[in-house]
Amino acid sequence: MIDFHCHLDLYRDPIALLSEVSRRCEFVLAVTTSPRAWVKTSKVFQDIACVATAIGFHPEILQERIAERDALIAGISQTPFIGEVGIDGSPRYANSIKMQEEVFCDVIQESERCGGRILSIHSRNAATKVLDILEKYSVKNIPVLHWFSGSSNELDRAIGLGTWFSVNPIMASANKGASLIAKIPLSKLLPETDAPFAQNKGVPYMPWDTSIVIRQFANIFNISVADVELEMKKNLKYLLETYRDE
Ligand code: MN
Repeated sequence: MIDFHCHLDLYRDPIALLSEVSRRCEFVLAVTTSPRAWVKTSKVFQDIACVATAIGFHPEILQERIAERDALIAGISQTPFIGEVGIDGSPRYANSIKMQEEVFCDVIQESERCGGRILSIHSRNAATKVLDILEKYSVKNIPVLHWFSGSSNELDRAIGLGTWFSVNPIMASANKGASLIAKIPLSKLLPETDAPFAQNKGVPYMPWDTSIVIRQFANIFNISVADVELEMKKNLKYLLETYRDE
């Protein structure tokens, strides 16, 4: 299984999960929520072949940890994977929105300066802001919009900009999510869990639970589960190889 956005470090006992993750997953993108967490998490997971740890700074905690901004920018040259980064335009975070936009802008520009990075991007209630910045500054980067929840017009714009999308079981089971997914080319989709935040009846999804997303894709696109699995493997390979080629 592939999980392209998982907070693996935030499970109650991540170490205990690693043998099953190694057995059941071919690739897990372990996103982090702060540059400081990334330093520690990337060490813990460094010997796990199927886990890549991304340096991130979650927009929800950006303001309280803004002292880590320089560490974030400095870390971008150290890893191909950036996330979770982005902008949250929800009313709760309204007083940090300018700061969020500035930092996201810096992240995109530094990623470009480093030759392009693969970024897992949060855009809740801020799809237009995120797309404005990608359109303006992102050329070599590979942006992957995680749990996209924008409008149909914003989705069209994102597809036009060539972004990728990672989708979790909650997004795909909602009517709005499913109708958005149906418009995305299968060649730009990857499955994710966003666990342990994303849960099923109070139980966090596990990285291998992206099997649920695979079945949802099979329904939405009316093709077999085996074909979706094949497509997701091809997408991952393409994405990682495109990155390496540059
Ligand atoms: Mn997340």
